Amino acid sequence: MRIVLLGPPGAGKGTQARRLAERYNLAIIATGDLFRSEVARGTPLGLQAQRYMDRGEYVPDEIVVKMVLDRLDKPDTRDGFILDGFPRTPRQAIALDNALAGKGRPLSAVLKFSISDGMAVKRLASRWTCSRCKRPYNTEFKRPRVEGICDVCGGQLTRREDDDEATIRRRLEVYREETEPLELYFWERGLLREIDAEAREEIVADRTIEAISDLIDLST
Ligand SMILES: [Zn+2]
Repeated sequence: MRIVLLGPPGAGKGTQARRLAERYNLAIIATGDLFRSEVARGTPLGLQAQRYMDRGEYVPDEIVVKMVLDRLDKPDTRDGFILDGFPRTPRQAIALDNALAGKGRPLSAVLKFSISDGMAVKRLASRWTCSRCKRPYNTEFKRPRVEGICDVCGGQLTRREDDDEATIRRRLEVYREETEPLELYFWERGLLREIDAEAREEIVADRTIEAISDLIDLST
């Protein structure tokens, strides 16, 4: 199963990615993390990317695409993968499609998690993350048992500084402008399924499975 996740901040993509990954033994590839790690480790691609960033320029698609494709060759993607944060543009999507087609491993589904702006603001403004294991919490929907402490590992919960309403609304606007062409690209290829993500985690998880089963046979 090879999946791309789309959805604005606050749509619960990360949570659903973890559930899917566990259920189907998929590797989660969060491209932001991948990118930072390549740069931090000073890999050849990381160094190339660094040179653009040092000049205040965008890192070209070719470099980002190469990083992702290298990652997709790792053995933990054998049963499939979930891409989160990539592709971001139709150009990147075409590069990914071509590379995967060349390996005989085309994408299975592109899942778009949708929520209203109001809900996104509500969720993000009350969002906390464990500083140690990165588990998400939410003071409205998913409180930790002890305030400020992770239920699982006991780490400190922290909040993103840019999670105030005006900033969130701007981020949502930018997100929509950027992803619309991408959604269109995948929709035209019959791969896009939209999931109403304004519900409890378990319900959204059920909807996710349903959307995937619309595209691939899950019984095998
Ligand atoms: Zn934790």
